[in-house]
Amino acid sequence: MAGTALAWRLSDNWPPIEVHLFTGRPTRIDASAVSGGMVRVFDKDPIQCLNSGASLTELRSSAKLRKWSGYQEIGSTFLLAGAPTDLGPVLSQIERVIPGSVSLLTAEQMVDAGWFRDLPHGTLAVVERHAGYLSPDRLRNNLLAHLVAKGMRVTERPVTAVTTDGRVRYEGGGPIGFDVVVAAAGAWTPALLRRSGLSSAGLRTKAIQYLLVGTKSTGWRGVFIDETTGLYGRPVSGNRFLLGLPTDRWDVGPGALSPDLLLNIGVLEVASRRLGLGLAAPQISTHTAVECYHSDPGLKLRPVESSSRLYSFTGGSGGAAKTVLAASQRAAAKLAQQLALAQQLALGAT
Ligand SMILES: Cc1cc2nc3c(=O)[nH]c(=O)nc-3n(C[C@H](O)[C@H](O)[C@H](O)COP(=O)(O)OP(=O)(O)OC[C@H]3O[C@@H](n4cnc5c(N)ncnc54)[C@H](O)[C@@H]3O)c2cc1C
Repeated sequence: MAGTALAWRLSDNWPPIEVHLFTGRPTRIDASAVSGGMVRVFDKDPIQCLNSGASLTELRSSAKLRKWSGYQEIGSTFLLAGAPTDLGPVLSQIERVIPGSVSLLTAEQMVDAGWFRDLPHGTLAVVERHAGYLSPDRLRNNLLAHLVAKGMRVTERPVTAVTTDGRVRYEGGGPIGFDVVVAAAGAWTPALLRRSGLSSAGLRTKAIQYLLVGTKSTGWRGVFIDETTGLYGRPVSGNRFLLGLPTDRWDVGPGALSPDLLLNIGVLEVASRRLGLGLAAPQISTHTAVECYHSDPGLKLRPVESSSRLYSFTGGSGGAAKTVLAASQRAAAKLAQQLALAQQLALGAT
């Protein structure tokens, strides 16, 4: 999703930037394919909040993006753990970008509405009306189809090595030289950089796992994140519910992963306590994928070893579905600026 979105932004730049996209072999077990795709504006980090606000605003204002991503606006509730910090600035920020969407509810109001049970006293909930979920997989596939139709060069082979002076080797070919190379290979990025003899400082991988459970009934309709337990979830079509808890499986290899069955038990316990869901136990499936995290979380263009020709564009840290539109736009603007500068310098030198 990250690489395709960036390629799309660059191809829309004026003057146009020629992009060669290496997609690797199609895999159904990357983060974008498995992602829950939950999107909202609220984040405790004001920078992330700015990015998710810009992304959701663009998504909501574009019929094409809504269709390409399968966006469903079902609302979002974020239950805050611990003593509330001053939420004023963040709430005003959300109100500015999407007027009339956000409200702050107390634990009592949430329990009275029948949405949650047994909430710790003093819990506050940031509720957003204009939020929901999308499919990163669908967005990525539609962007890719659009780029191919526009004539972008796409190679379905894995990149085997990259260099800080802009060269790329790929399975069965290369090296090819580029003005700029961006490694946007999600959880595969740290290994690709290390395999190329380069530093992957700041980047780590971590498994994310959730369950799809059949429910007998639930009045719950929106996306939720419950910081007091770590539980998150959303309804899925056909009376099913997506439910997850954070894993502690750091530094795992990308691709297929065996499910953590103990974690599943924890999810079901917390869900029945907090949501009172009537679970239809036999209808349970586990979904796991590996995500790329960064010590300074967020999908962002980062130079590799201070190079001006090689960047990573990853580090979504479990949240890039929310920010990919804004992050790809910002990354493309930075690359376009840099390419224009390099061109001016080259012209000056001749
Ligand atoms: C289970 C799960 C649930 C999530 N839920 C949410 C959510 O609810 N809300 C939210 O905001 N975010 C969520 N996220 C996070 C978000 O989905 C990810 O941040 C995002 O999808 C990452 O996209 P990506 O393009 O960086 O990585 P990926 O989707 O992993 O894509 C990396 C791509 O690089 C390709 N590749 C790998 N190696 C090479 C190579 N050598 N050469 C060429 N190509 C290569 C792979 O084939 C793959 O297609 C979730 C993530 C997971 C895993």
